[in-house]
Amino acid sequence: MELFRLSARALNRLFLDRKLSAEEIALYFLKRARSCDRQIQAFLEILEERALKQARLLDHQQAAGEPLGPLAGVPVAIKNNMHIQGVKTTCGSKILKNYRAPFSATAVERLEKAGALLIGTTNLDEFAMGSSTENSAFFPTLNPWDPGLVPGGSSGGSAAAVASRSVLLALGSDTGGSIRQPAAFCGIVGFKPTYGRVSRSGLVAFASSFDQIGPLAASCEDIALALETIHGQDPKDATTLDLCKETFLGHDLASLQGLTIGVPKFADLKPETQSNFNQNLTVLQKLGATTIELDLDILKYAIAVYYILAPAEASTNLARFDGIRFGYRSPQATNLDQVYELSREEGFGAEVKRRILIGTYVLSASCQEAFYKKAQKVRTLTIRAFEKAFETCDLIATPTTPSSAFAIGGKPSDDPLQMYLEDLFTVPVNIAGLPALSLPSGFDRQNRPFGLQLIGPQLHDQKVLQAGRVFEKAASANFKIPPL
Ligand code: GLN
Repeated sequence: MELFRLSARALNRLFLDRKLSAEEIALYFLKRARSCDRQIQAFLEILEERALKQARLLDHQQAAGEPLGPLAGVPVAIKNNMHIQGVKTTCGSKILKNYRAPFSATAVERLEKAGALLIGTTNLDEFAMGSSTENSAFFPTLNPWDPGLVPGGSSGGSAAAVASRSVLLALGSDTGGSIRQPAAFCGIVGFKPTYGRVSRSGLVAFASSFDQIGPLAASCEDIALALETIHGQDPKDATTLDLCKETFLGHDLASLQGLTIGVPKFADLKPETQSNFNQNLTVLQKLGATTIELDLDILKYAIAVYYILAPAEASTNLARFDGIRFGYRSPQATNLDQVYELSREEGFGAEVKRRILIGTYVLSASCQEAFYKKAQKVRTLTIRAFEKAFETCDLIATPTTPSSAFAIGGKPSDDPLQMYLEDLFTVPVNIAGLPALSLPSGFDRQNRPFGLQLIGPQLHDQKVLQAGRVFEKAASANFKIPPL
């Protein structure tokens, strides 16, 4: 049986019905992960021994008649900026190359408790800064649809692992688009929950007021299954929300009848992106939704706001990597100042240094008013503009990205703005803490996947996923597996 074609839910069923043992499932996906990885380099580490141990434990629990969780036997991958106790958390950085996690992230712990098999840790842009996974200090990950293309980023390893079906679910983190953009580039589903929905405990902080953990999967149904497991209040993260236990799909909707979808005006969309987007708006209309045009002019400042505030937060968060408390210490250093300077100089890559410099600059006494504080004000205005927009519509639709996947090395490294502009449609969501989904929305002429983004008001994660589910049933031709 080709297990990789199954949904997470279906595979869990096979295990619960004793058609397959957890050990058989683990062996199958470990083999598949290793074989796909020769072509796409999605994993930083494949956790062979650990996954087999977990699987045998599950088999024992089943034999003993103990209760089994909703993800029992489901192979998952974890972006390597989240802790798995005893496993390396490198953040794709030389500075944490040999750092082992002293505890597990809450989201990881909850997955394991639900019976998921952790197959491996996935590659990322260093400290999740980037949109292509080329900023990993170790190696780039390649797009499963075409090895000449980037898989997107920064959760590129998680997206490629799911797209290739090396695993059926993965966790990513999304600060400005890092779940949705790689999901779009790899032709899978990615979901960024409302800020505060999922605990950030054990996620290495990039920009704490933007960071959110979320799932990547082949369908909205599996996204909901993962979210139901990982979400919820956590005493270890004071920003988590105290909400009742939710199901994220609830009942399947028959159509989008009665739903109003707002479409912001964006100037200068690439013709191919525009035509794919228009086709998908037509699909949404055929499914019963009414579409209206929105004036969200403020979004033209979103990239500027994000690239001031996120580096500001990063510059303080990354101060802890000083050669003393964590990770790499330069062997060249002969005094304390040199320990700080050389460890950071040798340990961080170019993009991370750039962010630290931008962040330090915008927070400096003489610039704070002009940059940091002004960006905070525009953040508030953006939140209000979304609130106002949601008075007239239920959801907002945009393309996930300005274009489909670009070539490896295709963005000039001397002009970082080119890469930053990739995040045009995704960063507004993080600025306002909203839930948003990227759905496979078809392919361009070169067979590169496109993504459609659905954005909801805060806490309306369920509404977003329900609409996504209706769309995916109608557009099943977009949900393909690359030939690997
Ligand atoms: N591409 C964006 C950045 O480089 C977003 C990254 C993310 O969401 N982690 O900051």
